[in-house]
Amino acid sequence: EMFTPKLVDVNYIEGSSDKRWKSEDFPWTKKLEANNRKVFGNHSFRPNQREVINATMSGHDVFVLMPTGGGKSLTYQANIPAAYLSASMEWAEQQEIFRELMSDTCKYKLLYVTPEKVAKSDVLLRRLDNLYSWGSLARIVIDEAHCGLGILKQKYPNTPVLALTATATASVKEDVVQALGLVNCIIFRQSFNRPNLWFSVMPKTKKCLEDIDKFIKENHFDECGIIYCLSRMDCEKVAEKLQEYGHKASFYHGSMDPLQRAYVQKQWSKDEINIICATVAFGMGINKPDVRFVIHHSLPKSIEGYHQECGRAGRDGQRSSCVLYYNYSDYIRVKHMLTQGVIEQSPVSIGTRRNSLVSSDRVLETNIENLLRMVSYCENDIDCRRLQQLIHFGEKFDPIRCRKTCDNCSKMLSWIEKDVTDSAKQLVELVISTGQKYSTSHILEVYRGSLSQIVKRHRHNILDLHGAGKHLAKGEASRVIRHLVIEDILAEDVRKSDIYGSVSSVLKVNESKAQRLCSGRQPVILSCVLFFIQYPFF
Ligand code: ADP
Ligand code: MG
Ligand code: ZN
Repeated sequence: EMFTPKLVDVNYIEGSSDKRWKSEDFPWTKKLEANNRKVFGNHSFRPNQREVINATMSGHDVFVLMPTGGGKSLTYQANIPAAYLSASMEWAEQQEIFRELMSDTCKYKLLYVTPEKVAKSDVLLRRLDNLYSWGSLARIVIDEAHCGLGILKQKYPNTPVLALTATATASVKEDVVQALGLVNCIIFRQSFNRPNLWFSVMPKTKKCLEDIDKFIKENHFDECGIIYCLSRMDCEKVAEKLQEYGHKASFYHGSMDPLQRAYVQKQWSKDEINIICATVAFGMGINKPDVRFVIHHSLPKSIEGYHQECGRAGRDGQRSSCVLYYNYSDYIRVKHMLTQGVIEQSPVSIGTRRNSLVSSDRVLETNIENLLRMVSYCENDIDCRRLQQLIHFGEKFDPIRCRKTCDNCSKMLSWIEKDVTDSAKQLVELVISTGQKYSTSHILEVYRGSLSQIVKRHRHNILDLHGAGKHLAKGEASRVIRHLVIEDILAEDVRKSDIYGSVSSVLKVNESKAQRLCSGRQPVILSCVLFFIQYPFF
């Protein structure tokens, strides 16, 4: 049964601006620095690592929002004896671990468990009860915290919690903190921008594999990379083709047996192969720091997923490339697969299909919205890629900071200014008249006059504004909305739609600012591109 948290008053304490956590005179500082050098082989700490460790060691509940590759693991693990429990283990093996945990001489200091295990295993909870009552439960770490686990803080209120996630927008953060019951937690967060990743979207044509081959040979010859493919068959075909072209490539997907998969992972970590063609099943737990490129052979399913998959490149901070090959027919293909439920999910989102409390219709709708946002990302050949990604995480990004490290910023553009106040007003009115409960893609569909099932079901096709934006050039309405979001007239309220971390977003109106717009006191001017010259990007 799903854990329903009671709403609590949360008191956030911003950790990043508190100098206390940067201090180098905590009792554990010397040991900490020695371990960072000896155990991890690092010369220094990354942003927030020292601060997070100091705050959690001081006994506070701490919530960390750090992008993939930011170095979260270092804040809670070292070379200490550890064990793990998972539902797929033999019962005898699990028993052995439980016995060890209860013994006076327990050798383990760290126990890894899956959320399912905590939710389902009474035996485990009873053991944790014991440890807690003996005062031996020193800390609860919740990595990938967007996955839930509120029950633990409720049961063990005196044990500090360290919750970490790379998946958090402003309101997902609220939800996670609420769900985990972290009333007085200290929050450390940092930008989700990854300056060393170079982003571009390329048209996907029949000669896509030749393009990929050429791209790798010209830019990343003999370097390490991942090519994300949509289906198992695609993985195998792409790998085979790349082998023909002379690359050391292999494939990785969910229907291989565990031995095979382990073998490929090992070859890859030892640099015996340098290209892995994989479904999104590949990547969780992959820590290779020198991945120089991530190529998407087909459309990712969400901006969030895309950001995370790209995040596996360049963890060492060195320049790395992220190239996405896009064509519209892939959208149709992915949508079809989502509808059929035959798509290989990344481990984070697997739960959505099991979660009986969220209707499968609703999940499908959210999935398709996420996919549509990805489509408009690909079709937007004007705005900075970083800006487009980060706005999804509730982060406002000034494209100047991109410094031409995305395909769009590297274009030579010729602009005209266009007054789009009328469309802006109509869109704001549409959001208000539909009750501020729909996503951007949904509002856009209504505005363009779509007659899709969903639009019909909600009876938007009888609204005055249904189809009011028919005459606009492709992509323009969506740029107007983005502009309104940047100007704070509209806000994207991103919500976690279930405990497993799947997110959806709803457009809301900022009333005072919207009033200025609607009363005609604030014109909306959009820069529109007349023409552009694309220099070779990579
Ligand atoms: P996350 O869990 O936040 O995605 P990881 O903990 O897996 O990130 O770390 C990503 C990579 O960064 C790893 O290869 C790790 O060895 C490296 N790393 C972490 N901290 C440091 C540091 N202080 N200095 C250098 N490399 C680091
Ligand atoms: Mg991690
Ligand atoms: Zn840019």
